[in-house]
Amino acid sequence: MLNAISVATEGADPARVGRYHRARRWLSVAGFILDLAYLLVWLLTRWTLELRSFALSVAPPPALALLIYLLAFGLIHQALDLPIGYAKGYWLERRYALSNLTLAGWAKDQLKGLGVGGALAILAAEWVYWTMRHWPQYWWEICAAAFIVFFILLANLAPVLLLPIFFKFKPVEDPALIERLMELSRRAGKQVRGVYEWGLSEKTKKANAALTGLGNTRRIIISDTLLDHFSPPEVEAVLAHEFGHHVRHHILRGLAVETAVTFVGFYSVNAVLRNWGPRLGFYGPADFANLPLLLLVTGALSFLLLPLVNLHSRQMEREADAYALASIESPDAFISSMEKLAATNLSERHPAAWIEFLFHSHPSVEKRIAFAKSWAR
Ligand SMILES: [Zn+2]
Repeated sequence: MLNAISVATEGADPARVGRYHRARRWLSVAGFILDLAYLLVWLLTRWTLELRSFALSVAPPPALALLIYLLAFGLIHQALDLPIGYAKGYWLERRYALSNLTLAGWAKDQLKGLGVGGALAILAAEWVYWTMRHWPQYWWEICAAAFIVFFILLANLAPVLLLPIFFKFKPVEDPALIERLMELSRRAGKQVRGVYEWGLSEKTKKANAALTGLGNTRRIIISDTLLDHFSPPEVEAVLAHEFGHHVRHHILRGLAVETAVTFVGFYSVNAVLRNWGPRLGFYGPADFANLPLLLLVTGALSFLLLPLVNLHSRQMEREADAYALASIESPDAFISSMEKLAATNLSERHPAAWIEFLFHSHPSVEKRIAFAKSWAR
């Protein structure tokens, strides 16, 4: 739900913007096909059964064997994924002058991401297969409930534990701006624990601001790139949108959607593993050789649900924009922050309708500006 605002150094030639987004989409499609092929190859060649048997022969305790399986399965995937990850995350961003990262800096971030993401993935998989071994009848309900609790915990702790691994933060030192934003938070009735400058400029030219955390970890973070290019009323307009998400209970609504999706997901995984597992040579849901099948089911489900989730998201974004426009002095600051974006960033002003419908979590810049202008009238 971050309000991404990109400030590029070069002007936004529509043809150039179009090329950037087409390249990004093609790389995403290639990555998607690669992931799908990766899972299918493990299943159809039955290599997954061989890797599981090998892991069990090296380390008979199931948790340890699963760890060996996960390391092999995950690291091979990372290696195959590297060219697309490099093209999308480094080469394309450099080519369009959006990135400030050196290759070494990018590689360091990738390794950190692999460390954090890998640790979380191993934890999740060990937990899932442990519940399958201990509660074969009820494992999917238990897992779904535990994942929801974990999501809430992560939303609370991310600004304190995870974000500082990747970014530098320091308190904003402009008293007038702090007072302006504190006044905004009082109007919203949402307390925040300070206003922080988010060091994005060492990585990218893109600008961003957010309200991270929940309850007593909630804080305002504003990227240095945004502080450099946006006037105080424009910064306020961007943050007013973020407060809109909290005031309109979008965090709770998002959690409700996530809860429903998680339960449907684990229910489907359980059904598929029970019905198709034996035919593919798995001795039961707790046989971790079925991991590629489990990932295939969750992947297919999230792909099918994506348009619905995005539809819901765009509706919430529109509500947050309406809150922002109502809570700031004049819509001009909102419109100018959007116009600034439209003039200098590389986001598409007119995405094709079907692309926006399927893939975009936010309404297009053009629609958001039109909405603000109609609000002004
Ligand atoms: Zn938003």
